[in-house]
Amino acid sequence: MTIAFIGLGANLGDAPAALRTALQALAALPETQLLRTSPLYRSAPVDATGPDFYNAVAALQTRLAPLALLRALQAIEQAAGRERPYRNAPRTLDLDVLLYGDERIATPELTVPHPRMGERAFVLRPLADIAPERVSAAQLAAVAGQRIEVLN
Ligand code: AMP
Repeated sequence: MTIAFIGLGANLGDAPAALRTALQALAALPETQLLRTSPLYRSAPVDATGPDFYNAVAALQTRLAPLALLRALQAIEQAAGRERPYRNAPRTLDLDVLLYGDERIATPELTVPHPRMGERAFVLRPLADIAPERVSAAQLAAVAGQRIEVLN
């Protein structure tokens, strides 16, 4: 079993509802338990267009291999009606593998730890809520200027 952390984001339609549905889908994945869910955050778009994003991070305990986990996340995204008209387009639902245990993965399809997570308050803040040992004070300080608020 491996503890994996998943970043969730949405900024179209009823984004909080999309995140709730996605969390239910994560909890229903085979060979997987949903261990913890961060509070919900609202953040300004970074490298993206459109309205504010809603974000959260989930901790999973899973027997799925990293690529199988990615495929499962992509199926959940597809079920949420995500379209990709262009890079960084607004999205109904975006799911990222942030961490997979302590593994380092660098393949064409999957890079773990997620290569941009250290630059993003909307990842580091909710990750620190549920796994403070995985985020340093220096990392949080580096993203302190980004607009983000916790909602619950
Ligand atoms: P995005 O459109 O930002 O969701 O990016 C999706 C693409 O990123 C897919 O083609 C994935 O294969 C790739 N990717 C690479 N590393 C990761 C990761 N850690 N989590 C999710 N997608 C990843």
